[in-house]
Amino acid sequence: MSLIELKHVKKTYKNGVTAIYDLNLEIKKGEFVFVIGPTGCGKSTLIKMLYREEKPTSGSIMVGGINVAKLKNRKVYILRRKLGVVFQDFKLLYKSTVYENVAFALEIFGTPKDEIHSKVLKVLDLVGLKHKAKNYPTQLSGGEQQRVAIARAIVNGPKLVICDEPTGNLDEGTSMEIMQVLEAINKLGTTIIMVTHDTDIVNRMKKRVILLDSGRIVKDYAEGTYEHEGA
Ligand code: ADP
Repeated sequence: MSLIELKHVKKTYKNGVTAIYDLNLEIKKGEFVFVIGPTGCGKSTLIKMLYREEKPTSGSIMVGGINVAKLKNRKVYILRRKLGVVFQDFKLLYKSTVYENVAFALEIFGTPKDEIHSKVLKVLDLVGLKHKAKNYPTQLSGGEQQRVAIARAIVNGPKLVICDEPTGNLDEGTSMEIMQVLEAINKLGTTIIMVTHDTDIVNRMKKRVILLDSGRIVKDYAEGTYEHEGA
């Protein structure tokens, strides 16, 4: 069953730059997909359209049964509840504790307090940070901060997690730890789409790899690596 389906998607920004050209893509439930390619090839634009940060100029985008291209602004929350996003720079609330950072993602959807408590502790346990629930992000390492961001992204039980260079600020060892966390989440059934420049990670993980160039998909490998065609 496909979780994501893009048909003839084109994105031209207001300044006239076309970032994505006639892109067709299908991603099935439970897949782990890397999106790679040179700077400026359209990776961010592609994933931003999936969580409706950007709208396509033409074409259709279905995410979990929602027609994202046609989704009205006041209905975006319906999509956001179905997916989590993880960024390179974590985007945590630095005046809030680890617990509060994760709880916030449930509060905005009106989740009852007792439910929030059990769900937050469960995901913090999953990312190995239950013992740091009362700490503030500044008291954590980069890798730990990214784990908090991952916990926040999954606490709603989304079908999809979109990661935009989640290891971009982390050293090699920490990056691999983050990948293990993402792989564990994927094994629990969550689809993961990850933009990365990290050749090592792509080669080691042996997942599907989509290579973009100048706004087009130029390669799509089932168990790809950067070695193919020297991307
Ligand atoms: P990548 O993530 O692969 O580096 P992007 O999706 O950020 O690529 O960018 C693709 C192209 O779209 C680039 O030429 C970039 O300059 C342009 N672009 C990205 N965002 C905007 C924007 N908000 N307005 C205008 N042009 C943009």
